Amino acid sequence: MEKTWNGKKVLVLGAAKSGIAAATYLHHAGADVTVNTGNVPPEDEQKKIQALGIRSVYNEHPLDLLDEADLIVKNPGIPYQIPLLQEAMSRNIPIYTEVELAYFATEADFVAITGSNGKTTTTTLVYELLQGGERPVHLAGNIGFPAIEVAAEAKAGDLIVIELSSFQLMGVESFHPHSAALLNLSEAHLDYHGDFDAYADAKGNLFRQMTNDDQLVVKATDREVMKRVPGQIEPNTFSFDRGDASVVDGWVTVRGERIIRVNELALGGAHNVENVLAALLLIEPFHIPRTHVERVLRNFGGVAHRTESLGNVLGRPVYNDSKATNNVAAEAALRGFDAPIVWLCGGLERGADLSSLVPALSNVKVIVAFGETAERFKELGASEHIPSYAVETLEEAVPLAFEQSEAEDVILLSPACASWDQFKTFEERGEQFVKLVREYEEANR
Ligand code: ADP
Repeated sequence: MEKTWNGKKVLVLGAAKSGIAAATYLHHAGADVTVNTGNVPPEDEQKKIQALGIRSVYNEHPLDLLDEADLIVKNPGIPYQIPLLQEAMSRNIPIYTEVELAYFATEADFVAITGSNGKTTTTTLVYELLQGGERPVHLAGNIGFPAIEVAAEAKAGDLIVIELSSFQLMGVESFHPHSAALLNLSEAHLDYHGDFDAYADAKGNLFRQMTNDDQLVVKATDREVMKRVPGQIEPNTFSFDRGDASVVDGWVTVRGERIIRVNELALGGAHNVENVLAALLLIEPFHIPRTHVERVLRNFGGVAHRTESLGNVLGRPVYNDSKATNNVAAEAALRGFDAPIVWLCGGLERGADLSSLVPALSNVKVIVAFGETAERFKELGASEHIPSYAVETLEEAVPLAFEQSEAEDVILLSPACASWDQFKTFEERGEQFVKLVREYEEANR
């Protein structure tokens, strides 16, 4: 749905990648743009804004900016509670999110994915699957390029696969995806949204404009998810053991049709099987050839650091789940395997209650914990009579995990903690893990 911005006075709130992309797009579309940030942006961002030749106001949000604004485009991280946005609302100045802006910028169709966990994996898988169809496909959001950049380039008839967080979906009104999934809902980001319902409702905004001509995909067994399906719409449901797409007799099955055996999927873990089921429903309207679907499912081992399979290392399937920075994500990974697990965990101490992990420990045979929380994970293991070790670093943890394992055991890095006690990012932690695993393999062949 294209809209014209020519001559409109637009206040872009927030810089960073997406704010700059929005400002650039609007400026080129003829709008009169001002960028406003609550802090002073890094120099490289300031330079980019300067190069556009547009106005900028840094380090405060003066209310008089609103006197000149026809509309606001807001970075998802900025809360609606700040005085500037409260005042804008009382003056009825429209506040767009970048997602809406992207939607208005193109005639392409959107395939959108949200949920508490599994977004990046499912988005990437859907993107790969859609490559087998006739329509050109683009990837937008966290793993791709900013949505507005992608939308500005996409043509009518193209598909844009987009991952959306609850922040990005807050305040969304017009965005109308042709195919969309709400994968699951668990408690997250409550500091921003206030309470669970506000968070879940933000995710539910995804479905607001959808009709029965669209494909709405939800997890059958998640009551909170099912509550967000608009009354007039017939949902397409998935879950491991129930729904339009589910696992029947060891087969990934969609509406009774067997697609592939679960044990032939490159992705590991029951949670990933659910991501596969959701992806198959999301692509249904686009008639992707079966051979392509099977090929992708046999080869797509996941996105780096998300229960990413490192293959069989000295007889042990090894997985890098460095992205699991909280209990819920680690629980999903731990529950995902039937084989005994040697679990590498630990990291930044945030005082989280570890006891919620106990029910997920039934397949854990050894715990090797590292980082600031190492001792606490060791105690957790000991309380469940699981042999547990606390070491300082990942360098010590990886060889110990191999020594404590037997052939066929799963070796899983799924830290349940942020990485910042010892690493810059979860990616750096995951890369270090992969390197250490490869070195151990090389030395013990
Ligand atoms: P997101 O983008 O929502 O953070 P990712 O695909 O990056 O999700 O996966 C992050 C972590 O969440 C994974 O490492 C895995 O431990 C867990 N996870 C992935 N898919 C699911 C799912 N469907 N249900 C529960 N947990 C999941």
